[in-house]
Amino acid sequence: MSTNTENVLQNHLTTARAGVAAIMPDFTEVRTNTVTPALVEPLRSGMRGPVILPEDPAYDTARRVWNAMIDKRPGAIARCTGVADVMHAVRTAREVGVTLSVRGGGHNIAGNALCDGGLTIDLSEMRTVHIDPQTRRAHVSPGALLADLDHEAQAFGLATPLGINSTTGVAGLTLGGGFGWLTRRFGLTIDNLVAADVVTADGQRLHTAEDEHEELFWALRGGGGNFGVVTRFEFALHPVGPEVLSGLVVYPFEQAPRVLAEYNESISEMPDELSVWAVLRKAPPLPFLPESIHGREVVIFAVAYSPESGDGMREIEPVRRFGDPSGEHVGRMPYSAWQQAFDPLLTPGARNYWKSHNFTGLSDGVITTIVDNAGRLPSPQCEIFIGQLGGAASRIAADATAYPHRDANFVMNVHARWDQPTQDEDCIRWARSFFEAAEPYATGGVYSNFLTADELARTGAAYGVNYDRLAAIKRQYDPDNFFHVNWNIPPAGDGRVAGVG
Ligand SMILES: Cc1cc2nc3c(=O)[nH]c(=O)nc-3n(C[C@H](O)[C@H](O)[C@H](O)COP(=O)(O)OP(=O)(O)OC[C@H]3O[C@@H](n4cnc5c(N)ncnc54)[C@H](O)[C@@H]3O)c2cc1C
Repeated sequence: MSTNTENVLQNHLTTARAGVAAIMPDFTEVRTNTVTPALVEPLRSGMRGPVILPEDPAYDTARRVWNAMIDKRPGAIARCTGVADVMHAVRTAREVGVTLSVRGGGHNIAGNALCDGGLTIDLSEMRTVHIDPQTRRAHVSPGALLADLDHEAQAFGLATPLGINSTTGVAGLTLGGGFGWLTRRFGLTIDNLVAADVVTADGQRLHTAEDEHEELFWALRGGGGNFGVVTRFEFALHPVGPEVLSGLVVYPFEQAPRVLAEYNESISEMPDELSVWAVLRKAPPLPFLPESIHGREVVIFAVAYSPESGDGMREIEPVRRFGDPSGEHVGRMPYSAWQQAFDPLLTPGARNYWKSHNFTGLSDGVITTIVDNAGRLPSPQCEIFIGQLGGAASRIAADATAYPHRDANFVMNVHARWDQPTQDEDCIRWARSFFEAAEPYATGGVYSNFLTADELARTGAAYGVNYDRLAAIKRQYDPDNFFHVNWNIPPAGDGRVAGVG
């Protein structure tokens, strides 16, 4: 790298850090060893894929992630085309002593896919999905997006539980836990993971499963990117679709306290095949809603019923009776289309700041807090998302996998989203103050995949009762904490506290 490039990079780093620190005062700088010319040539010489540097035309696109608040500038991006590239990049970075980050789908809200100045292993070209319909297994490469897996599996009438935005990466979603419309019926994404290949800090690839490197396999199911670079996921698949009964039932905001209380009451009676998520936001101009409520606050219940048999109309009927709906659009649609239904509201490129709580139930107190804050949305794109879990996901012990939050029946995501930097302060302040007001009603646990960049102090809460076991496994497989650009678990005994870097 030329001196000029290094200077430009350094200036960008300083500006970016100052910007983030102004908005997020709790932000702790990641400890970074930067890329030097000593890394670039050995790296290039052993890679099939390209190594992208700051002076390359492809660089700015390659460093872009879903959340436009993230403006990190890696010193180099190694775009891997296969496992050999990943092993080579890990070994080279390790030998030279450079900071490493790993990018799957690039959706992580905290921007952990990238590191400032270090080396980013970019897996986005590795998107192959192979389905074996006989054994009902999916073999998934680490750059695959949810839509890639759904597309291939649905060709055989199969699916595994994934998230609700089809452009999310399978890798990051799985390593944190993963939940979506099928979770109440078939468990979390990790509950369907049967094996994973991982390149560990020494550059070796290990095959992990219930009976092979079983502690490492346990840790991968909720322990995030702490243990190595996963190069292949193997999932169990289930017959789903090709159509599911799904859609939206929309209530006017005035009925919010009543319909949310009814929602909370109804969950004990709900079959596992039914998932109902609540969204409080300003109504998009949907054709089935009266124009008079377009742009006004509403409560939207998104329903998905994927039965073994029957049409599901009877099962979703209670959702229509939570109150007097303003409109609804519910019917049978292809499963893979429903998996993409929320994509238009969650496009990349906007500025985003999230705060998340887990709840066992929606008490009157939290409903009042939710309604108060939903009445003060600081931008038309802000929303409060309440995902429903329970069902099969809750019938697994908290220590059966590294993901500990089996008690959470609801995961609330305070999703602040806007376009202009001038709105940063208002939107972030709203999310934080809502989060604080809702805290007394929450379990204290948090889904690691929903943590924002300034939430280092919540890292322990993300791993909960499983933290000590994870730290011991970290000591075994990554004693030098080489993989630390993630919600970091320092190796047991090294004296550092959890957090990024
Ligand atoms: C719009 C939107 C909707 C979402 N909806 C849901 C949802 O419905 N359900 C849900 O469970 N989650 C959901 N999420 C959260 C999502 O699971 C996380 O953002 C997840 O981290 C995304 O994974 P990724 O591969 O795209 O991310 P990346 O940003 O690429 O990576 C995320 C983290 O995983 C690590 N990582 C990625 N790939 C690998 C690998 N192969 N090996 C080791 N470490 C790796 C990275 O280093 C980083 O620390 C949503 C996120 C967004 C932005």
